[in-house]
Amino acid sequence: MRRLKQAWELARDFREGVEDPVEHLYNVFEAINRWEARVNAYISLESPDLLVEEVERISRSIRVGEKIGKLAGLLVSVKDNICTSFLPTTAGSRMLDPYTPPYNATVVERLLEEDAMVVGKTNLDEFAMGSTTELSAFGPTRNPWDLERVPGGSSGGSAASLAYGGSDLSLGSDTGGSARLPAAYTATVGLKPTYGLVSRYGLIPYGNSLEQISPMARSVRDVALLLDVIGGWDPLDATSLRVDRPRTFTVSKADPRKVTICVVKELSEGAEEVIEKAYWRILKKLESEGVELRDEKLPVASKALPAYYTIAFAEAASNLARYDGIFYPTKGGGSSWEEEVELARMKGFGREVKKRILMGVYALSEGYRDEYYIAATKVRRVVRDEVLRMTRSCIIASQASPILPPRLGERLDDPLKLYAMDVYTVIANLAGVPALVQTIEFHNGLPIGVQWIGKPLGEGELVSLGLLVEELTGLAGVVAG
Ligand code: GLN
Repeated sequence: MRRLKQAWELARDFREGVEDPVEHLYNVFEAINRWEARVNAYISLESPDLLVEEVERISRSIRVGEKIGKLAGLLVSVKDNICTSFLPTTAGSRMLDPYTPPYNATVVERLLEEDAMVVGKTNLDEFAMGSTTELSAFGPTRNPWDLERVPGGSSGGSAASLAYGGSDLSLGSDTGGSARLPAAYTATVGLKPTYGLVSRYGLIPYGNSLEQISPMARSVRDVALLLDVIGGWDPLDATSLRVDRPRTFTVSKADPRKVTICVVKELSEGAEEVIEKAYWRILKKLESEGVELRDEKLPVASKALPAYYTIAFAEAASNLARYDGIFYPTKGGGSSWEEEVELARMKGFGREVKKRILMGVYALSEGYRDEYYIAATKVRRVVRDEVLRMTRSCIIASQASPILPPRLGERLDDPLKLYAMDVYTVIANLAGVPALVQTIEFHNGLPIGVQWIGKPLGEGELVSLGLLVEELTGLAGVVAG
């Protein structure tokens, strides 16, 4: 284990002339060269020459005292389901290989406005459908903390790039836990924002009503820095909330005597024993600092996972209908329209994606709609009502994952085992509320995470609690190796 300067400290030190952004860029390249062949965090990398040119421009601006953006000199990796006009965007699928969008996602525009450098596009489960980053058309990503294990998914490439020092900050996406599960498995931090706080314009959709582009980093303060840059109203996304840019970077560490944590029974059990023990240790530690712990129940939690998957599959079936082999690169070579669509999809989509489209169509079809899709939306409503009720007066504590990072291949034979990994994370997506995952301990070299779920637009409070926890664990900024 090593420790790196946090990204916000680096940015400050660049600005003050204490650190050289050019040298930093070479250090990050060096980490990428050392690790990437084994880890496979990136699908594509920006040309080093171009980045050197860019960092020299920034370095010059600093020397002559020109105004520079908040992220000047920092290297950000971007999940490959977020559109960039300067690098291909594949969503981890053969269907979009090769495809370079004609525009940047709003979040990418906002990164560039703050002088961030996009170092590359990160690997993911195809169309973000998965929990391990093994289901990518570009091969699996491995966990830098243990190369035999997965980094979690679907934003596993983002998490792994951070965990070996191959980026300073990263953008993931989170439909049912895809930024948070990888955070728990790689000792990084992932924050799924309130639904609508971050623009989805330019995010290749999987489950629109559930997902948010999510900041990932090696510390809570860094995640806040990135959230403030990407968040806030965007006229290009009709579901974006009419709110100002968030201001979470400047919040201070929580005063424990002013924090109430709801310990929800259903979200506090069911994990492997080492995880459960670590979870209770951090809660007890917080209590001894003065935090009030309150017992709560969420009986509907057992239905959340099937409800989530039903809704996500239904939305996926509708979203993926656009891939017809005509507009996007994969061609079927059929002689009629029907045959073309069929062949393009057969070649372009992987097994898991095909399965989800079929199940989604089934859940929406005449005669089954009420039983599946409508029933799932009712569960969603109850989850949301209950979570909103609780988070009015507390932050909800939850385990982050029921298991330690599994070995490659271990969870793939049985889809239910794969889906069960999201049991704690889907709640926040169904409810549309923010949730943060951070690391609390290591067990035999593997990280264990905890999750905090907040009220709508309560990101500041999560950051504030996260800072307190980080102080107790001393784990900000750690990298593997
Ligand atoms: N593992 C979940 C799924 O496969 C979540 C994925 C995500 O958040 N994108 O649907």
